[in-house]
Amino acid sequence: MSDIDIPEDIRYDVDSDGIATLTLDAVGQSANTLGDRFSAALAAAIDHVIAEKDSLRGVVITSAKKTFVAGTDLNQIRGYNRDNIAELAAMLNAGKAGFRALETLGIPVVAALNGSALGGGLELALACHHRIALDAPKVEIGLPEVQLGLLPGGGGVVRTVRMFGIQQALLSVLLQGQKYPPAKALAVGLIDELAATPEELIAQAKSWIKANPDACQPWDRKGYKIPGGAPGSPAFAQILPALPANLRKQLKGQPMPAPRAILAAAVEGAQVDIDSAGLIETRYLCELVIGPVSKNMISSFFFDLQSINKGGSRPDGYPVTEFRKAAVLGAGMMGAGIAYVQARAGMTVLLKDLSVEAAEKGKDYSRGLLDKAVAKGKMTPQRRDEILDRIIPTADYADLEGADLVVEAVFEDPEVKKQVFADAEKVVAADALLGSNTSTLPITGLATGVERPADFIGLHFFSPVDKMPLVEIVVGAQTSDATLAKAIDYTLAIKKTPIVVNDSRGFFTSRVIAGFLDEALELLHEGVSPVSIEQAGVQAGYPAPPLQLFDELTLTLPLKIHRSMEEGYAAEGRPTYTQNATGVLARMVEELGRGGRSAGAGFYDYDENGKRGKLWPGLREAFGGTTEIPLREMKDRMMIRQSVDTVRCFDEGVLRTVADANIGSIFGIGYPAWSGGVIQFIKQYEGGIAGFVSRAQELADRYGERFAPSQTLLDSAKTGTLFE
Ligand code: NAD
Repeated sequence: MSDIDIPEDIRYDVDSDGIATLTLDAVGQSANTLGDRFSAALAAAIDHVIAEKDSLRGVVITSAKKTFVAGTDLNQIRGYNRDNIAELAAMLNAGKAGFRALETLGIPVVAALNGSALGGGLELALACHHRIALDAPKVEIGLPEVQLGLLPGGGGVVRTVRMFGIQQALLSVLLQGQKYPPAKALAVGLIDELAATPEELIAQAKSWIKANPDACQPWDRKGYKIPGGAPGSPAFAQILPALPANLRKQLKGQPMPAPRAILAAAVEGAQVDIDSAGLIETRYLCELVIGPVSKNMISSFFFDLQSINKGGSRPDGYPVTEFRKAAVLGAGMMGAGIAYVQARAGMTVLLKDLSVEAAEKGKDYSRGLLDKAVAKGKMTPQRRDEILDRIIPTADYADLEGADLVVEAVFEDPEVKKQVFADAEKVVAADALLGSNTSTLPITGLATGVERPADFIGLHFFSPVDKMPLVEIVVGAQTSDATLAKAIDYTLAIKKTPIVVNDSRGFFTSRVIAGFLDEALELLHEGVSPVSIEQAGVQAGYPAPPLQLFDELTLTLPLKIHRSMEEGYAAEGRPTYTQNATGVLARMVEELGRGGRSAGAGFYDYDENGKRGKLWPGLREAFGGTTEIPLREMKDRMMIRQSVDTVRCFDEGVLRTVADANIGSIFGIGYPAWSGGVIQFIKQYEGGIAGFVSRAQELADRYGERFAPSQTLLDSAKTGTLFE
């Protein structure tokens, strides 16, 4: 064994066959992350191998951590701006030169992926001649940079294009950043072999080296051509124009620079030699790194999410609670979904409805989802049966005896809810968590119906429960910290992301989503064409346009909520800013008889099977449709209204942390992902917080008080910081 010249982060062993193994093991870190220090260690290790290559038969690269290499150090990436970006370019280009030296070493180099290889980790592996991955659960392989507004800048674009051809590399690896389990990665071609155990992984790597002494990358062989043709080739000439057109269709006008940069780096890089392609890739990545969108996405999808999932809002000092027996009251749409996610997480679930038949129907929902997973080969029939066996339908409260958790999802009626809690409380464990999935009723009010209000809390799920990642935890006036800690433990146990809000009308999500929806109604009221309104919503980056979303929700429910909110606010002497929106809803429902999709007619027309057709032509007659407002102004109105109201939520003590606001807005209510969330949008607005505030004031002068920034924002415009 020798470790001359190599920092302690990488072990270097040579076996009796002359095969060197580099074991990546960043000192004092739980994962190998490609920051300054570890990149330097890797470069030193590669130099060392180059110096010794004449005495070596081959090289295996593996890791001593749970993952192979975790990717780039995002903390470092966040710190680059126009002034210091040249440092990043130099570091990337030096890294690429090292990778290039590795793949042109003249002896075989094998990546033995003992765990996940994502981003930079996979890029290192792609610079090896052969890749073998341990076939274990949780191992993921891919280049997910696009999901953070970045592109793979360690040769990932250059090499996947040369391995698969431009189109295939874009579709299966780069543009969506798919993370594949090992067997899928093998099918796609990102890896070459699977290994069943860590020992076999290394043994297979060494036997490949012995069998392939002349290993060489395909692109370094004479006569190599890019699969599917280079951009200049006749074969490719027909596809080329379709690529940007397809991308435009996919992005729908959202400001997402990363996919465009990836496409450009792939096409431009395919026309030049591999080293020049690497420089092109670096240039595009540097542009993305200094732009606002990658900073937004890294801030929310990495740092905010990490803080939340580590229990950032969980009160300190309470031991983690494990839930074993859960009671779900109400087996309707929500209860059935909640039962499913709990059973998947290993809990025994008593699913209670008015009759056993109704409860059985709720269980059928899980059966349907699990059967589908089995049919697709994603789950074994045994695992399906295990999960299903854990759901016990019942109509008898006695069966809930000893349950350590109650989640209530019966009708949205305070009296019914109070009654079911009163009945359940008699039989469940004396310290069971008492959670309600109400979407509108104040938690503090519902808590008056139970004996233990300190144990009562809101667990607001989103529909469909199995797909939506968020749970909005609502803390009532009497809810204890111990209960909040338990609710966060529960939410993390069912693999959802918890955000924590204090009790108030509409909580955070239902209140702030209304800003987007109501602004669309304001525009309609002003006589803007409904087609343009929908277009503005889509181009801003909302997953569904606002009028379409209204139809899905039905117009009757929002109308009811608007009216009760207006009454409630009037009693408190607070403004609601909703009169025009309520007027549009009332006309649609009460005069024009168009209550939404379930009514067969809403802002859109529907055929007899409920399939959505075009926007209803009568809208123009009813509301005008000739007022012209620039798209940018409409997009700003939707997003700024929501952000201004979010700051009011902080002012009123509804929200507690910025991470909760950002993640809640993207995961719960479809706020545009590129923005990094409702608060991040303010911080990264053109001109910073001051720029946002002056734009909000401009909109307030033109359209009304709903856009007026609160004192908190006015102060932030001066200090340049918000909730820090
Ligand atoms: P649903 O009508 O589909 O289901 C309600 C179920 O409760 C029915 O199966 C009913 O038989 C059962 N039920 C009624 N009284 C009962 C009793 N006394 N004991 C046991 N079961 C009883 O309604 P849903 O859409 O599932 O909504 C349930 C709750 O979740 C409501 O409070 C709603 O506001 C809330 N919520 C709904 C959504 C959504 O998108 N639908 C989203 C978040 C929260």
